[in-house]
Amino acid sequence: MNRRNFLKTSALGLALAASPISISALDTPIRKSSRPGRLNLSFEPYELKLRHSFNLARSQRTTTPGVQVQIEYDGIVGYGEASMPPYLGETVESVCTFLSKLDLAQFSDPFRIEEIHEYMESVAPDNRAAKASVDIALHDLTGKIMGQPWHKIWGLNPDKCPNTSYTISYDADPAEMKAKIDECEGFKIIKVKMGVGHDKEVVEALRKRSDVPICVDANQGWTDKQAALDMCNWLAERGCVFVEQPMPKEMIAETAWLRERSPLPLIADEFLQRLPDVTRAAEAYDGINIKLMKSTGLHEAHKMAILARALGMKVMLGCMTETSCAVTAAAQLSPMVDWADLDGNLLIANDRFDGLKIVDGKVTIHPDRPGIGVELLG
Ligand code: MG
Repeated sequence: MNRRNFLKTSALGLALAASPISISALDTPIRKSSRPGRLNLSFEPYELKLRHSFNLARSQRTTTPGVQVQIEYDGIVGYGEASMPPYLGETVESVCTFLSKLDLAQFSDPFRIEEIHEYMESVAPDNRAAKASVDIALHDLTGKIMGQPWHKIWGLNPDKCPNTSYTISYDADPAEMKAKIDECEGFKIIKVKMGVGHDKEVVEALRKRSDVPICVDANQGWTDKQAALDMCNWLAERGCVFVEQPMPKEMIAETAWLRERSPLPLIADEFLQRLPDVTRAAEAYDGINIKLMKSTGLHEAHKMAILARALGMKVMLGCMTETSCAVTAAAQLSPMVDWADLDGNLLIANDRFDGLKIVDGKVTIHPDRPGIGVELLG
């Protein structure tokens, strides 16, 4: 894709915002000369091609939707991205409609990130992934203007980036299961998806081949607190270091009961989205999983990490299936977290960016590349 093919949030964009947006209309590139001394936002849908298809009960998924964003300011370009897993309720249409409503050209200072977030909140209360895409592009832009990467601006040491987990899930086919375990080679922590049956089988299959520490994501799948406690005890004996979202997010009292007894820390994922949720999470969980597409981007994610630390909580940093743009942006924050699950870009075949690398299982970011630390490929 050529950067000139980005759509401009021009008069056409504002016109589209008045009615449900048509993706076929968005496929037509619109060019408009940018305004000097102003923030010029452009965006376009970008379908991510998966390296391995997702096998669902009745279908096979080989792609996942995304929207690529850029903000230009006096010849400097910042890149951003929205990814939208179905459970967050956002679509290419809803993201493009939201972005079309924004008039960022009213801003002449890209460093007013707090003010731009307040403006975006006034446009619509939700649309968190869409807001994240603007936030990431603003961080990339302002970092480039300063000539510094964001981990450095925040005072973080890139040598302290954590290992990232690599995710596997159960497969009924033993050969497929073996292939999945083989792919974990080199990672220092493996994330096992649970809560859909066969929970112990996948751990036992893994343990026959590897003694690497594991973490477990139950994805709200355990609904009986005693059974959940039994599973936590069983996992603790098998090298598990924490459990993510063990019970449905509504079962707060049961999760708090489990936390009192579990030998493993419990981490909130689906339970929380944004900053005000962190103090609520402290009532039942030992830590939080921050994702840029939930938090509206880096600005609030940074605040969430600081608040969680102040409350004595563990902090995990996750991502969606997305390009190196959003994953590398999250990685800028990773030196201040306990655990990272930043493998989303490894799952796609058509990455537009060069960014973070996983070296010997560890999140590795360029020490000096400014902004969010990515370069557009091609
Ligand atoms: Mg999760």
